[in-house]
Amino acid sequence: MRQLNKLALETGNSTNRTLPLEVGCLVSFRRIKIRNGSAFTLIELLVVIATIAVLLAILMPALRRARLLAQGVACRANLRQLATAWNLYLDDYEGYFYQGKDANLNYGGWQGQGTNPVLGIVPRPLNRYLGLPEVLESEDSAKVFRCPADRGGIPNLNQMYEKVFRILGTSYQANIFLIGQNACGTFSTNGNTAELDAAISARLTEVNRSKVGNPARILLIGDYGWINQWIPVQHPLERLEPILNQKGLKEWAEWHGRVDCYNMAFLDSHTKLLNIRKGFYVTDEYSVLPFEELNYLAYEVQGYQP
Ligand SMILES: [Zn+2]
Repeated sequence: MRQLNKLALETGNSTNRTLPLEVGCLVSFRRIKIRNGSAFTLIELLVVIATIAVLLAILMPALRRARLLAQGVACRANLRQLATAWNLYLDDYEGYFYQGKDANLNYGGWQGQGTNPVLGIVPRPLNRYLGLPEVLESEDSAKVFRCPADRGGIPNLNQMYEKVFRILGTSYQANIFLIGQNACGTFSTNGNTAELDAAISARLTEVNRSKVGNPARILLIGDYGWINQWIPVQHPLERLEPILNQKGLKEWAEWHGRVDCYNMAFLDSHTKLLNIRKGFYVTDEYSVLPFEELNYLAYEVQGYQP
């Protein structure tokens, strides 16, 4: 106790010793300020703020571009891995593409957490070719299925803010002509595509890699919204347009800078940021149709040859 008191006294003494110095500093600082008038005038402050604002305005687009670029590179790296995994799968299954209900979306990834009927705890066969279990309850180990620019896009207002990856278990949708053809029925709502629907359905059982025309031109898998972009019926975004405009959410579906551009992997595993056009486009650059014989029907539906 005595020692403690002694310590307190010493500390007090020490404070007492330094106090005049500190006070002296404060006083001299104040004197300087007073001598020079106020540190900044209002005009000077406004100039500084304006300069910072101009610098930010110059830097922000550059930062946005850099972020878009980085996200695009990471997304295409994912897609290249998925396309390679698909080809390993095809090697094991003599070239036959995976078929199953809604296989275009639940072919791989984690189980997701939405209420969409597409979802469910189903084995996702592609996972095995990426060294993952077929049933994944957590999203943590399914990173290769997540587009870093995934902002959502489920055509359902209740879930529109959610990332597709979180809801469906993957950000990437496979070509429904190759994987998950039960989704092809979507075209029939347009009426004039019934013939194409029937022609495709008749060939579903034959979808084999060896029969696909040119693998370097056939789209295999890409960012979720790409199917809705080319499908020759009203785009869900068009349907939602009045609401989106009203809420100022038009950019919600833009994952990679433009609403009509999607990162895609082709059947030969090369990847590209592709401008997807409306219709069954068959060009030198890309085709969604796996068989050349179906092209004439595509032209008919489109009303012109590309
Ligand atoms: Zn992406």
